[in-house]
Amino acid sequence: MCEVNQPALDMCPVIYTTSKAAKVLFLGGYKYRSNGSRGAKIRWRCASHERFHCRAVVHTVYDEVVYIKEEHTTGKN
Ligand SMILES: [Zn+2]
Repeated sequence: MCEVNQPALDMCPVIYTTSKAAKVLFLGGYKYRSNGSRGAKIRWRCASHERFHCRAVVHTVYDEVVYIKEEHTTGKN
């Protein structure tokens, strides 16, 4: 099971690699798209960003959530 240290991050991230080698992250009922990576760290942006300018951001390191800013501009995407 995933190990999340901080209570605020108490959600297991689920990461898929699509056929285009693009990664998507599902977390807390939201879908995120990879927005660049550096080493093992990946920055994710809510999939609603393009359409709704959603500002939610997640950072993961080795597929573990290390940072999350849940500022969704809409409901579930
Ligand atoms: Zn969002």
